[in-house]
Order: sequence, then C-alpha cells, then structure tokens
Amino acid sequence: MTSNRGTLGARPAVIDGRPRTTPEVIEVLDPSDGSVLATVPRGGRELIDEAVTAARRAFDRGWRRTTAAERAELLGNLARLLREHGDELAELESRDVGKPLRQGRTDVNFIARYFEFYRNLVEAHFGQVIPAATDRITMALREPHGVTAHVIPWNFPLGIVGRTIAPALAAGNCCVLKPAEDAPLSTIRVAELALEAGFPPGVLNVVPGYGEEAGHALVSHPGVDHISFTGSVEVGRRIAAAAAQNLKTVTLELGGKSPNVVLADADLGTAVPHLAQAILLNAGQTCSAGSRIVVADEIHDEVVDRLVKIFQNVVIGRGIDDPDLGPLISAKQRTQVLGAMEDAANQGDLRVGGGEAVVSGAPNGFFVEPTIFDNVSASADLAQREVFGPVLTVTPVRDHHEALAAANATRYGLGAGVWTRDVSLAHWFIRELDCGQVMVNTFSNGVEMPFSGRKDSGYGTEKSFEALNEFTRLKGAVVAFGDV
Ligand code: NAP
Ligand code: MG
Repeated sequence: MTSNRGTLGARPAVIDGRPRTTPEVIEVLDPSDGSVLATVPRGGRELIDEAVTAARRAFDRGWRRTTAAERAELLGNLARLLREHGDELAELESRDVGKPLRQGRTDVNFIARYFEFYRNLVEAHFGQVIPAATDRITMALREPHGVTAHVIPWNFPLGIVGRTIAPALAAGNCCVLKPAEDAPLSTIRVAELALEAGFPPGVLNVVPGYGEEAGHALVSHPGVDHISFTGSVEVGRRIAAAAAQNLKTVTLELGGKSPNVVLADADLGTAVPHLAQAILLNAGQTCSAGSRIVVADEIHDEVVDRLVKIFQNVVIGRGIDDPDLGPLISAKQRTQVLGAMEDAANQGDLRVGGGEAVVSGAPNGFFVEPTIFDNVSASADLAQREVFGPVLTVTPVRDHHEALAAANATRYGLGAGVWTRDVSLAHWFIRELDCGQVMVNTFSNGVEMPFSGRKDSGYGTEKSFEALNEFTRLKGAVVAFGDV
C-alpha cells in the first residue's frame, strides 16, 4: 500500500451510486511486468456496511416493486453500453488480468450475453398457480432474496460479474460485489456503466478490498440475504461457515480438475487443438480448465506428439500484445505453479518441455511456459491438485471403463470433456461422469447451459434459466374465496 499512483490512476469503489475512496489503497499490478497499474480503495467493515445499507435502502425504496419488464429494459441498456465500451473493457481486463487481448474481447461478449440472456428470460420467470381445490387458489410465488453478496476471483472478472450479477439483478435483488484484490478494475467500470444504463443508486455496489477484510465483512454481514461465492475450496468452506452463522443461503462455485477423455475413435484433427486451448486459455487459470487428459493407449503417442508441437509454437507475451499465452496473475501464483511442477518432477512424473519462461523485454512479468507431464497416474499428486497454471497431465488408459474411473477419481466435480464418434459411449459418459457439466466433442459452452459443481467443486447453480431460481426464493400463498 502506498499513495495513489499508477498508469490508470486511482479507481474508486461505487457505493449508492457515488464514487468512494479510502485513505489506504491497494496497488493493482500489471502481471506482465509487475508495475503498478492502478490503485483501488482498501474497503473494510465500514465501507461494506455502507454498501449493504445502501443496497437495502435501494431494495426497499422501490427496486423490489419494479416489474420484470422495467428491469429487463435496464439490463438491455447495460448490455448495449458494455458492447459500446467493448474495446475499453477488453483492454482493461487484458492489462489487469494479463490475458491476451482477444480473450478480453471474448469476455466482453460473455458479460454482454449474460445481460441480454437474462433480459430476455426474466419476463418469463414466475411462480405457479396450483389447482388444489375449487374454493381457493394456491400460489407458489417467486420473490428476490433482497440484498445479495457476490465475492469473485481474479481470473474472469467480467465473465463472472455477468454470470452472477445479471441474474441477481434480473430477479430483483440489490447487489454488493467484492472483486478480487488482484483484478478489480473492470468490475468498477461495470458498476459505473450500470448507473449510466439507468440502474438506481444502491442497486449495484462494488467494494474492493482484501478477502480477509472486505470479503469477510460482507459474507458475515447480517444484512445480506444470499451469498454467491466463486473461488477456491478453502475460502468456500469458510464462507459456508460464515453463512451458517446468519443462516443465509449460499451458492458455491469452487475449484476443479477437469478431465478431457479422448477415446480411440476420436477425431484428433478437431480434438487436439481444443485439448491445448482447454489448458492455454487464461494461462490455465480457469476453474473448468481441461487440466487432465485421459487418453486411450492406442492413440496416446499421437496425441502427445501433436500437443507438444502446439505447445512449442505458443507465442508468450504481454496480454495487451495479444499473444497465445499471457502471464500468470501474480508472483505468488507463479511460485505456486512452479512449485507444483517441481513436486511432480521430484515424484518421478515425466515432463515434456516447458516449465520456465522469461519473456524478453518483460523480465519482471509472471510468465510460465505451457508444460505437459506424460504418463501421470490418475492418483498422482499432479493429477489431483488444482495447479491453476498452464500445466497439463496425460494419463493413458486401456478402455472406457478405466477412462471413466480416472475421470471421476478426484475430489472435484466441475466439468469434463469427452471426445468420441460413438454416440452410445458419449451418452454413457454423460450419465456416469460425476460432475456438473459434460461437453462432448467440444470444450466450450454458452450462457444457456447450467453451471454447477459437485463434490468439492461446490453447490448451487448459475448460468441458464436456473440462475433465476437460485436468486429468488419461493413464497407459498393461499386465498380462500368460498364456493358460490
Ligand atoms: P480465492 O482465494 O478463494 O479468492 C476468491 C475471492 O474470495 C477473492 O475475492 C478473495 O479476496 C475472497 N476471499 C478470500 N478470503 C476470504 C474470506 N475469508 N472471506 C471472504 N472472501 C474471501 O480464489 P482465487 O485464488 O481468487 O481464485 C482461484 C480459485 O477460484 C480457483 O480455485 C478456481 O478454481 C476458483 N474458481 C472457480 C470458478 C467456478 O465457477 N467454479 C470460477 C473461477 C474460479 P482477495 O483475493 O481480494 O483477497
Ligand atoms: Mg491485476
């Protein structure tokens, strides 16, 4: 912490529609060279309390009585503004997170899509009338929670703001968001654009700060009605415990160690570039990164040869120069990733290239080369732990039963890819994989698909129509009018 400086200057918190600063600030670093990019307020208990109070006021003052059509109009306005400011937001995200510029553009498209998607859906989201008897009407009404808290990580700030804030606002909640200290800049900009779009003050508040301070104050605040958390398993457990103290509901989107199962009949021309991209995307710092390849013996050598060629040709550089692979988010993350690779090598896992990188002209950046570890057993430490870097393990298997066992053999259950031309096998895997999302012959999906974790990957559902249920609660009501 120092006084305000940095090439993007001081960025404020947004509370009750106004910019707010604090005497103490957090330096936000440019991961491509370690320099200070901007400063943001170091929010704590007081600022969080102000934001929760503002959100409650906005909710009671009128937001809770808005119609779905009125909210839909504002969601549409914001989506339009996000697209109009697409270049600015993509650049901001690229500089803050270190991701290649074109990926920043993809993320802008995603956040806009979320607001468009929930704009389109919200008017069709309502409860039910239950024909229990002729002398009465029984209803299941959908109501917003009230004030929702959102704590998010640094890897996809724009995408995750879209995923969690768009349905929460659509459903009629007022939100307080605590971004990650490592990448808060785009979230602040989204809150400013939301005001421009016509959302009333207090409906969307953003308070940067450290997890232990602002984050903890937010999730344990008694004025919060529902918590949406995206981040690590360790912090997720703490947040569930804090929510339990206040008996609040919580959505947990946690870590992963997602496999890509490649069966012997897979179309490798299509599959292999996707397998590479599944771990190169955001330098492997993706919750649903395809970080494990489980591959049939017959095609193992060919798959590894092709992957090595792709990895050798990956262009590494500053995100803003739009390379294939940018830096990791921080020095801490780089140490963590290099440590995981060192542990694996010490345990006898076989490294096929990679493992270190200093990009010329940017020696202080947090770069790591993409690295493959081959012939890793499904139970090996490296195949079990979430590395959160461009590190891929390859596990050969004899048949689809062994493939399924390997795919399910971690404490996580976020996503999985399956590559096969056999439609029966594809459906068998969809049924048997113990995870929240299965992708066959692709490793990407859109805002329409439900997203949820199993096992240590968390609980609750975001994305899809289902997120509108997640951000509302049911009220039963009955009106007896008597027989005429
Ligand atoms: P993290 O350390 O769990 O942090 C996530 C957020 O929680 C940050 O805003 C952090 O604040 C805050 N936080 C930390 N301690 C807290 C506490 N005691 N109370 C309240 N908030 C607290 O995760 P990360 O390192 O940023 O992100 C990587 C992890 O997120 C990976 O495990 C990844 O798989 C997971 N992730 C999951 C999904 C999904 O949808 N399933 C998506 C993306 C990422 P500060 O960082 O500012 O301290
Ligand atoms: Mg940053």
